[in-house]
This record gives sequence, structure tokens and C-alpha cells, in this order.
Amino acid sequence: MAAIDGLPPLREVIATHGLSARKALGQNFILDLNLTARIARAAGDLAAADVIEVGPGPGGLTRGLLAEGARKVVAIEKDSRCLPALAEIAAAYPGRLEVIEGDALQVDLSGRLTPPVKVVANLPYNVGTELLVRWLTPPDWPPFWTSLTLMFQKEVAQRIVARAGDDAYGRLAILAQWRAEPRIVLDLPPQAFVPPPKVSSAVVHLEALPAPRFPANARVLSTLTAAAFGQRRKMLRSSLKGLSPDIEAHLNAVGIPPTERAEQVPLEAFCALARSLDGNS
Ligand code: SAM
Repeated sequence: MAAIDGLPPLREVIATHGLSARKALGQNFILDLNLTARIARAAGDLAAADVIEVGPGPGGLTRGLLAEGARKVVAIEKDSRCLPALAEIAAAYPGRLEVIEGDALQVDLSGRLTPPVKVVANLPYNVGTELLVRWLTPPDWPPFWTSLTLMFQKEVAQRIVARAGDDAYGRLAILAQWRAEPRIVLDLPPQAFVPPPKVSSAVVHLEALPAPRFPANARVLSTLTAAAFGQRRKMLRSSLKGLSPDIEAHLNAVGIPPTERAEQVPLEAFCALARSLDGNS
């Protein structure tokens, strides 16, 4: 049976183009077009946005994005075997899909996109966290994107949304929550993918905030959280002593007990400590 976009079902696309999944490329495909449409809808209003998709593969999510009305999709795919299947989608949606063959960690997209830009991807797990950290740490804020809607291993998704006191709380939570609003919008069991991965997955939607939630110097906050969570079971007066000879005074000045451990300290208090260390509390 043909799908709503008139293109063949994804199982047929995979068979026609010989797209057997390759583990080294993190290939776990979603073949259910209802599911890919749900992920596309989780990204919000696509009609007025250009979308970057990393790793379209046989194009299930790409088709979801286009069917849900994305103004334009720029898709970056490393596996050249997928290009003919993606060309068929481009032909069904004239002028709305641009496919770039390459490594998303290397490709330069400047000049190809008109704001607002959304990023939506069923990411290869091996590059997912690296891409997220890059998107969250541009030289200037606000970043080039207004939202990120991304698939992660469930355990990584939980690290992104974790709060102080949670086991999963750490640097990724601080990074994601300082200048963005992340939430888990969809949980997926391994059986949602072909082949099924060993772990469960979740889609995280992050909206960029216009400005950081609390003032702090990005470099100081990064150094501080690296030291604090690098030795997360130690008391802060010990894990942070390399940052300042007066670390106990800085901690006391911002109301953090020097005996506290990093995993108990909320984002706001880390920002206050970063300002104190930076000399402008
Ligand atoms: N989006 C498709 C879906 O939902 O069925 C495929 C998702 S699969 C988890 C990840 C895709 O990313 C694969 O098509 C793989 O070839 C591609 N990929 C892996 N590493 C990549 C990289 N560094 N840059 C671009 N694409 C990559």
C-alpha cells in the first residue's frame, strides 16, 4: 500500500535500494510513518521554518517533516547508499528537500538556511551527544536554531532533563538547561526501530531561550562544572580547590555549604558561583 505522500512504504524503499542497516553508522531505522509524523509534530510549527535533519537514512523522518509542512529540509547523510531513495523524496516535494552527502560533524551549512531554523533528527547515537554539545555552545547566544528535537538513548535523554539531586544530574543538564528549555516528548521502545537497538530511546525537545536563565560567563561556568562533576562524590571545597585559593569564601558568599556535593547544587547556584569566581557577583 502506498503512503499518504504517494511514495512506497519504507520496507520497500529499503529492499529496492539495498539499505541493509550498518551498525558502524548507527543505523536503526524507523519504518512507521505515523511515528515519524509524531516526531515531526513534536518540533512545533514547521511551516514557517527551515529544518536541518541529520542522518535521514531511507527518509522516514524526512517524509514526516515534509508531510507536516516543513518549509524546507536540509538533510545531511553520510551513507551514499541512501542518496537515490532521498532523491525520490526530493522529486515528490519539489524545491523543499536539499540532501547533502557528508559527515554532520564536518559540513558547513552557512548560507543554506533562512531563519527560523529548527533541527530535527533521529541521530546516530555515536555522534548525538557531540552534536548536541556543539549546538548548545556556540560563540554567541541566541544560537542559529530556535529548537532542537532529537532522538537519544533514554539514559542520555534523562541526563539532559535531570534536576539537582537526580542520579542523572551533571554537566549535560547544566549545559542544556542554562540557555534552553529541554523536555522529553516521546519514549520509544527498542521495537520502534529496525533493527531494534539494545536500549530504549526518547525524543528530547529543546527550545532556545532568548538569553541565559541566569547570568554567568560561559567559559567560567564550563570550567567550574567540569571540576565539580569530575569528582562528583567529593565535597565542593575539595573538588573546586584548584579554581581559587579562596574557594570556601566564594562558596559561602553565594550560600553553598562548602561540604555540599556537585549533584545537589542547582543550576542557579552554579551560575552565582561562576559570577563570584569571575569577580562580579
Ligand atoms: N532518520 C532515519 C530514521 O529515522 O529511520 C535514520 C536514523 S539512523 C539512527 C542514523 C542515520 O544517520 C543513518 O542513516 C546513518 O547513515 C546516518 N549517519 C551516521 N553518522 C552520520 C554522520 N556523522 N553524519 C551524517 N549522517 C550520519
